[in-house]
Amino acid sequence: MKLICIGRNYAKHIEELENERPEHPVIFLKPDTSILLKKQPFFIPDFSNDIHHEVEILVKINRLGKHIDEKFAHKYYSQIGLGIDFTARDLQSQLKAKGLPWEKAKGFDGAAVISEFVDKAQFSDLNKLDFSLEKNGEKVQIGNTSHMLWKINELIAYASQYFTLKIGDIIFTGTPAGVSRVEPNDKLDGFIEDRKMFSIRVK
Ligand code: ZN
Repeated sequence: MKLICIGRNYAKHIEELENERPEHPVIFLKPDTSILLKKQPFFIPDFSNDIHHEVEILVKINRLGKHIDEKFAHKYYSQIGLGIDFTARDLQSQLKAKGLPWEKAKGFDGAAVISEFVDKAQFSDLNKLDFSLEKNGEKVQIGNTSHMLWKINELIAYASQYFTLKIGDIIFTGTPAGVSRVEPNDKLDGFIEDRKMFSIRVK
């Protein structure tokens, strides 16, 4: 399975990193080895001094598809979740400056937190979904999917022009503003609306 990640999908996060607003969705992949195993802490890798949390709504693909039309995209997922796209910001900045791929900064072991998935029918409108991240009990990221530059169905249509989507693939739909560095002993709790989706310890 693959993790398809969307960068720069929230205007305020684009501003906080002083990135350009993209013309098309920015896509990168994480390998399946980046998935943080259940109930394991996240270990800060020794090649970075600036690991950031990026909380993101996840979509799990449940049908094989290629060149999916946006109006049929809703048929390709029945569950959503919440995750963290951990990013070695210092390394990513160096790679970006040289025009090199980001994978080392985004695809390292443990860099993908993935919650349990829940039936999307439990939410009245996926395009108006509140989600948030607490760091040590304080809300640091607050998002609402209405602020996505590209909505879930548009992302599925777009990504499937390039990559065949397979059952079990997961889409990370991009992070809202409020990313910050994590330190050893931090506790990260993720929420969709009032439902706690994960709790992670940083080591
Ligand atoms: Zn991200």
